[in-house]
Amino acid sequence: MKHVTHWIDGAPAGTPERTAPIFNPATGAETGRVFLADVAQVDEAVAAAARAFPAWRDASLVKRAQVLFRFRELLAAHKDEIAALISAEHGKVHSDALGEVSRGQEVVEFACGIPHLLKGGFSENVSTNVDSFSIRQPLGVVAGITPFNFPAMVPMWMFPVALACGNTFVLKPSEKDPSASLLIADLWRRAGLPDGVFNVVQGDKVAVDRLLSHPDVKAVSFVGSTPIARYVYETGTAHGKRVQALGGAKNHMLVLPDADLDLVADSAVSAGFGSAGERCMAISVVLAVDPIGDQLVEKIAERTRAIRIGPGDDPASEMGALVTREHRDKVASYLDLGEGKLVVDGRENLPDGDGFWLGPTVLDHVPANSRVHREEIFGPVLSIVRVSSYEEGLNLINTGEYGNGTAIFTNDGGAARRFQNEVEVGMVGVNVPIPVPMAFYSFGGWKASLFGDTHVHGVEGVHFYTRGKVITSRWLDPSHGGVNLGFPTNR
Ligand code: NAD
Repeated sequence: MKHVTHWIDGAPAGTPERTAPIFNPATGAETGRVFLADVAQVDEAVAAAARAFPAWRDASLVKRAQVLFRFRELLAAHKDEIAALISAEHGKVHSDALGEVSRGQEVVEFACGIPHLLKGGFSENVSTNVDSFSIRQPLGVVAGITPFNFPAMVPMWMFPVALACGNTFVLKPSEKDPSASLLIADLWRRAGLPDGVFNVVQGDKVAVDRLLSHPDVKAVSFVGSTPIARYVYETGTAHGKRVQALGGAKNHMLVLPDADLDLVADSAVSAGFGSAGERCMAISVVLAVDPIGDQLVEKIAERTRAIRIGPGDDPASEMGALVTREHRDKVASYLDLGEGKLVVDGRENLPDGDGFWLGPTVLDHVPANSRVHREEIFGPVLSIVRVSSYEEGLNLINTGEYGNGTAIFTNDGGAARRFQNEVEVGMVGVNVPIPVPMAFYSFGGWKASLFGDTHVHGVEGVHFYTRGKVITSRWLDPSHGGVNLGFPTNR
C-alpha cells in the first residue's frame, strides 16, 4: 500500500502519525494512506515557502518564465502518468483525466507570458519634470486549498499564476485523491524551481485552519463546496488575508423551442454525465420550454441508456465510479426522495463488485421547489424541469442559490443576447453546455458560487496574486528648490 507524503522544501516530507485512506472507486478497495498534516507540519511548509520567497521574488521575469516553460514541457510529457493517478483515486475515465491536465496546462502557458502580464503603466511629465508609473509586486507566501473533483486542473488554476508573479506557494490538495500533487511537485523540481517555492501539505480541516490563521500566509485561494468556501472566506479575511473562495454550483441549461433537439440532447447528456456529474460546471438541470419537453426527454433518455459505465482505466468506459462510498450514497439518496418521474434509474444494471457505482439517472417533471432541483447533488443525476416560457426559465435560474455556469440553446440570436445580458451567473454558454473560460479569461461564478471579488486565472488571477504600487518621481536640480506647504497640484 502506498503512502502519500507532504512535499516541503523540494523533497517528500512528514511522518504517518495521522493518516486517511485512499480508495480505488472502481473496486472499492483501499489502495493507500495519505498523511494528514498537524499544525507543526503546516508551519514547516510555510516556513520553507517564506525562506524561499526573497530570492524567488528577485528572480528576473525571464528566469521565472523559463522555469514555467520547462515545467510546461515536463507536464506535457507526463500527462498520461498524472491522468492515471487521477483516474485510480477519483474514478473518472482516463480520457477525462487527460482533459483536465490539458486545461491546467493552458494556465501554465498563460503564465509563461508573465513578463508581458506584469507590464505597468508609465506617464511622462504628469507635472512639470515629474513622471508616474505603476508596478505590481508579489504578496509573499500564498496558499491553495482544492477539491477532489479536479486534483490537477484546479490547483493549476492557481499556482502557475501565483509562482509566475513571484510568490511562493503551499498547496493543500483534497485528501481523497492526493497523489497527483506529489508528481506535480517533482516536475517543478525537475524544471529547476528552487526548493521551497512550491510545497504541498496533505491534510484535512487541521491543515486548512492553520493556513487560514498563519501570519505568514498572505492570500488563500479556495475551491470546494459552498459551506466550506464561506467558512474559508470569513476565517481567512478575519485574519487579514486576501481570499478568493469558489463554492458549489447548480447549473441550468435553458432550451428554447427553436433549438436543434438532437444537438441539445447530445450536449445535455455529455455535460450532465461527464465525470459522473462531479464537475462544478456540469449541467444538472435542463429547463425545457414548452412544447418540446416530451421529445427532448425521449432523446436524452435514449442517449443516457447507451452510456457505458466501468473502471476509469478501461478505454471502453465512458463514465466511471463516484469518488467515495459516502458520496455515492448521498447522491443516490436524492433518488429516494421520490421527487420527479424516474425515466432512467441509475441504480440498475451496475457493474459487479464493491465499486462506488451509480449509473446516469434522468428525472423528468422535477418540481421547481423540490430539493432535487434546488440543491447541489454533484453526481450523475440530470433533472428536467418543464417551463412555459423563456421568462419562467430565466426566473428559476436567477432565483437559485448558485450562479456558477449556465447555458442557453437556441437558434435565435436575439434571445441568446437577451439571456447573456439578463442571467445572473458568472459563466454563460450560448449553445455551449460547459462554458469554462480559457486560461486568458478568468473563471468564477456569482452568488453562493464565489466569495470574494476576484475570479481565478487570467488577468484577475495576476491581480489577486500581486499588489499595486504607484511611483511618482522627479530628478532634482537646483531650480527645484524652495519650501511650499500647499497641497501638491499639477504645474
Ligand atoms: P469540500 O468543500 O468538501 O473540500 C474542499 C477542500 O476543503 C478540501 O481540500 C478539503 O480537505 C477541505 N475541507 C473539507 N471540509 C473542511 C472543513 N470542515 N474545514 C476546512 N476545510 C475543509 O469539496 P469537495 O467535496 O472536495 O469538492 C466538491 C465541491 O467543490 C462541490 O461543491 C463543487 O461544486 C465544488 N467545486 C467548485 C468549483 C468552482 O469552480 N466553483 C470547482 C470545482 C469544485
